[in-house]
Formats: sequence, C-alpha cells, structure tokens
Amino acid sequence: MTESLRGKGVIAGIAIGKVLLVGQSLDGYLADYKVESEASELAKVEAALKAVAEILQDNVKKLQERNMPEQSAIMEAHRMMAQDPMMAQSMHDKVKELGSAPRAVLAAADESAAMFESMDDAYFRERAVDIRDVGKRIAKYILGVKEPALGDAAVVLCGHEIEPSVIANIPTDKIAGVLLGQGSTTCHAVIIAKARAIPTVAGLGDKLASIQDGDLVILDGETGEIFIDPTEDILSTYRIKIQKQLERKAYYAQLAPLPAETTDGVRVELMANIGTHLDVDAAMTYGCEGVGLFRSEFVFMGREEIPTEEDQFKAYKEAVEKCKGKLCVIRTMDIGGDKPLAYLNIPKEDNPFLGWRAIRISLMRQDLFVPQIKAILRAGVYGKAAIMLPMVINVAEIKQVKEIIEQAKVQLAHEEKPYSDNVQVGIMVETPAAAIMTPVLAKHVDFFSIGTNDLVQYTLAVDRVNHNVSYLYDHFNPAVLSLVQRTIQAARDNGIWAGMCGEMASDPYAAVLLMAMGIHELSMSAPSIPRVKEKIRSISSTKAKEILETVLQLEDGGEIKEYLYNHL
Ligand code: PEP
Ligand code: MG
Repeated sequence: MTESLRGKGVIAGIAIGKVLLVGQSLDGYLADYKVESEASELAKVEAALKAVAEILQDNVKKLQERNMPEQSAIMEAHRMMAQDPMMAQSMHDKVKELGSAPRAVLAAADESAAMFESMDDAYFRERAVDIRDVGKRIAKYILGVKEPALGDAAVVLCGHEIEPSVIANIPTDKIAGVLLGQGSTTCHAVIIAKARAIPTVAGLGDKLASIQDGDLVILDGETGEIFIDPTEDILSTYRIKIQKQLERKAYYAQLAPLPAETTDGVRVELMANIGTHLDVDAAMTYGCEGVGLFRSEFVFMGREEIPTEEDQFKAYKEAVEKCKGKLCVIRTMDIGGDKPLAYLNIPKEDNPFLGWRAIRISLMRQDLFVPQIKAILRAGVYGKAAIMLPMVINVAEIKQVKEIIEQAKVQLAHEEKPYSDNVQVGIMVETPAAAIMTPVLAKHVDFFSIGTNDLVQYTLAVDRVNHNVSYLYDHFNPAVLSLVQRTIQAARDNGIWAGMCGEMASDPYAAVLLMAMGIHELSMSAPSIPRVKEKIRSISSTKAKEILETVLQLEDGGEIKEYLYNHL
C-alpha cells in the first residue's frame, strides 16, 4: 500500500527512483538502535566482524582483477584490522562497558585510533583514519546502514545526514533525488544537490524510519511530498509532471545565451557556484558567466590524505580552462563548521562554526595552505583565476595571506613552474566583523563576495544547520540587508567589485534588491541562474530602486517578503 509523507521541499523537481540508504553520520541510527542482552550484543559484534572481513576480502579480489593495486592494498589492510584478535577483544570489553554493540565497536576503534594518533611516526599516525573507517564499517553493518552501491538506474539517496563527500563523489546521473532527516537548507549536502539540480526533500526527522532500502519512492522537491510504493495511478500523474518539468527546462535553456540585464540596460554578472571542476560544463549550459565560487574544500574531501599541490593544480587548471577566459574564483579550503575532514584531526569543539575553521586553519597549517596557493597561482596561467579567502574577520589575516602569496611566488619561480601574476585576491564577507569593516578591508583586496549562508547565521545568531531555529534564518532580516548594503557601498566607494555567493543570490526577489543596491555579480548554484535572469530581465533599474527604497523603510523580514511577493 502506498504510504505518503511530507518533509520540507528544498530543491524543486520531481524524482522517481529506488531508495539507497546512506548517511555517514551514525548519530540518528545509534539513537534508534535497540540494545538487547549482553550475549546478543556480543554475538552481533562477532557476526559483524566476520561478515565485514568477508566483504573486504571480496573487495580486495575485485580491485586486483581491475588492476587497482593501491586500492586493493588499502582494502587488504582494512581486512586485517577487521580480523585482528586484539581489536575483537577490545570490542568485546566495550560491549560489557557500554551495552550497545555498535557504540562498543566505534568506541574500541576510536580508542585504538587515538593510540596511533599519539605516535611520532607519521605513517602510524595516518593509520588512525583507517581504523576509524573500519570501525564505522562494522558499526554500520550492525546498524543495517548500507554502503552506497550503485547500479545502472539513478537512486534516491536517503539518510539522516549525508556527508558532502558522499554526494560529491557520486555522478549526477546516478542520483534521482535526495531525502534527508535533517532540515537545513544551507548544509553542504543540500548545496551540492542544488548545484546539480537534484530534487531534495529535507527535515524528515523520525519519519525517515518508514523508508527502507530499495523502496520505490516519488518525491516532490517543491511541496515536500513523498510517496512510498506508489500505485500505478500516482506514478502516471507524476510522470506527466516530470514531462512538464522537462518543458520548463527547455524554456530556460533559451535564456542561457542572454545577458542578465534590466529593461533599461543595467547588467549583473551571473556566475556559478561549483564543488568540483567536473561541475563547470553543466554550469555553462545554464548560461553562467564564469565561476563565482569554487568550494575547493571538496578537492580535500572524500580522500584519505591531503591532496598534493599537483593534485590541486590539475583540478583548478581544469576549472579555469573550462571557464574559457571568464573569471574562476577559487575559494581556499573552508574546512570546519559542518565540513569535517578526518585526516586533519580537528579536535572536537563545542561551537565548530565559531572554532577552528577556514582561513584560521589555513594560516596555522601552512603545509596545507602554501601548496593550495601555489596550485591556484599556477592554474591562473590557463585563464583568469582569483583567490578568495573564507571567514575573514580582520585586516591582519589578509596581510598574512598576501605575504604567503608572495613567498609562494618566490618558491614557484625557484622551482621554474609558470604562474600568473594577475590572480585577483578577494575575501568572502560572511562575518559581521568583515561586513562592518568593509570600508577598511576594501583597501586591501580586489573584491568582496558576500557569503550570506554564514553572514545570516552569524548576524542573527541562528545556527545554519539547526532545524529548530531555521524559522529565524532569514536573508531579508533588516540587520542582514543593512550589512549587505554596507558591503556593496564600501566596494563601490573604493573602486573594487562586490558580488554575492551565498544562497541569497539565488532568490530572484533578493536579486532585484541586490541589483538596486549596485551589486556587480551574483553567484549561485547553476540551475538557479535562469530564474534569477528571468526576474532581472523583467524589471527596470528605476523600478527596482523604488522597491529597494520602500523595503529599507520596513522594519521586519516578514513584512519585506510580503511586500516583495506582492510587488514583484
Ligand atoms: C556562505 O557562507 O554564504 C558561503 C557561500 O560559503 P559556505 O556556504 O561554503 O560556507
Ligand atoms: Mg561560508
């Protein structure tokens, strides 16, 4: 029988497909897990160790057959860890202490990993990541969480949370839709799904428990509706809707070559936000005029060690080349917050969004930062690149980075590697401190790009990934609008350009206000470009300025939204 659920539609579009349960965070599964008797929990650990060792053995064989010796060696090492008697003993001891088999497995792996981490030898320290990985695999086996296994048909990924690297590493044509337990619209899994126009419903919470691996589902990313095991009638209704969706896409395709220009000739550049160099081609089909945000941290994710300068150079060069002479803004790694990176061993923090994140990590870990800067400077030779710094709060950070850039150039010259001297350096304006200080910061950089995803959370003290406070998260809040306007004005006063790469830029109503404030560029997930372009092409700059003037008199975000919906 068909079961219907409703979540929060976060990325419009209809998807039909079979569910693949994923989700790297096990918190939700652990909370739902029912602990049985000690003997039964011990037996589960035993069975899981045996099964995982067999799965890994099978992987080793397949990888050898495919002539992938390095991957096969890693899987072999993991198999040996899963069969290590000391590891098994430690897991048994933890069951006696903690009760729950999956928690015991994770705690034992964590303890062993911590021991490796304290060793002087870098090789042994790095093994900590593998031990945690194996522990997680065993815990997942007990919890019934499946590893993503992809067949020919596109699947609907489903999980409480899905790590950005999981989505980033699955080809777009293999993902029909996404269902999430958590409710944020600016978490990075959602941002990547948006860049790929994958219909997504979030905020399902406990309702996720009624969705099983392999279920056929329909999801509507606009209304948030989900049908599990739909009848033939429902299926045919939704197939018609998919057809309409394709027709709208065709209409938007016609807009791709046209500029985002008001009826009286004011232009705004529309650029794309990308997660990997592989996204550029798709972004170009939506008519983007370059890349306004390459989230380079995704080059660092989904792997077990720091990418080398050479690895990064290849990725950035490809993105820059694909922009064909148009600007490609590469943001330096923004790890931390909701984007963890196991091999960086970021200590557990009470407030990760206020902690060791982004530029703060880069400035303290120059072994990571210098190769990244060198790779971007080298990629600049192949087109027009820019370096963008995340989470800046003061001038001192910019000055330090500029010194590092000069040192990187000296190193590159010494190594006889060609690099560009024309790489612009700009900052994300995503902290209230930066926004307030823009008249000063503007003297030190070539551009500003307003990151509203963070600017909204930091200005309003509303965690961007906390479902319970998401009703307060509002880019039309007058406090946010005031900081945005201040930033654009400071850029104009100082002769530099100002853009926006937070999600606000993809809201057509907001785009009208931003254009009236004098913004030069809006960067967004590429599928949003046609809607924003359509809105800008439909209005004159004079009318937009009148609307802005009224909006700036209003006292509340809700009122502003209502006014915009009624007048646009
Ligand atoms: C932002 O904060 O608006 C932004 C674009 O950066 P991220 O979403 O990656 O934090
Ligand atoms: Mg940000």
